[in-house]
Amino acid sequence: MKIICIGRNYVAHARELNNPLPAEPVFFMKPDTAIITRNRPFFYPEVSTNIHYEVELVFRINKNGRHIQEKFANTYYDEIGIGIDFTARDIQQKCKEKGLPWEPAKAFDGSAPISKFIPLNRFPDKSNIQFHLLKNDDKVQDGNSGLMIFNIDKIISYVSKFVTLKMGDLIYTGTPAGVGQVAIGDKLEAYIEGEKMLKCDIK
Ligand code: MG
Repeated sequence: MKIICIGRNYVAHARELNNPLPAEPVFFMKPDTAIITRNRPFFYPEVSTNIHYEVELVFRINKNGRHIQEKFANTYYDEIGIGIDFTARDIQQKCKEKGLPWEPAKAFDGSAPISKFIPLNRFPDKSNIQFHLLKNDDKVQDGNSGLMIFNIDKIISYVSKFVTLKMGDLIYTGTPAGVGQVAIGDKLEAYIEGEKMLKCDIK
C-alpha cells in the first residue's frame, strides 16, 4: 500500500507557512514504513531538530482504480480515520529553498501515525466533519472537512490521473492551521467529532 498526502489544502494553513494557494491539488507520498498504528509512540528522529505535527483527516481506498471521474470517486472509499503528517520543517524549508523533493522532510520512519477507521456513513454530511488535535491537553488545531480547498472526491479524481489507487491506500487530506513543534515528552490526541481516535506519545 501507499500513502498519498495532500499539501496546502486549507487556506489558513497555506497562509501560515507563506505558501501560495494551489490551483490544483499538491500531493506527495510516504512509504508504508511511515505508518504507526495502535497508538504506538513516535520516536523523535535524529535527522531533524524541528518536527511539526499536522493533524489530517484520512480516507482509505476500498477498491482499485485509475482515471477516476470525480462523480464516481465516492464509490472508492467508505471509511474515515485521522492521522498525523509529521514533518521535519527544518529539512522541508531547505528542500523548498533549493527546489528539491520533500521526501527527507516527510517520508521518514514513523511520520504517519494513523487511527482506526470508522464508517463514513456515521456522519450525515461528509463535507461537514469536525476534527481537532490536542497537544498536552491544549487544543492546537481545529478543522472541518468543509474547509478543504479540494474535497476528497476532487483529490481522488486528480491523483488517479497520475497514480493507480489500490485497495488499502491511504489519503491524508491536508492540515488546517495551527501546526507547530513537538518535543520529546509531548502527548498528541486527535479527535473526530468529539470522539478520541488517536493518541501518540513523543519519545
Ligand atoms: Mg500535511
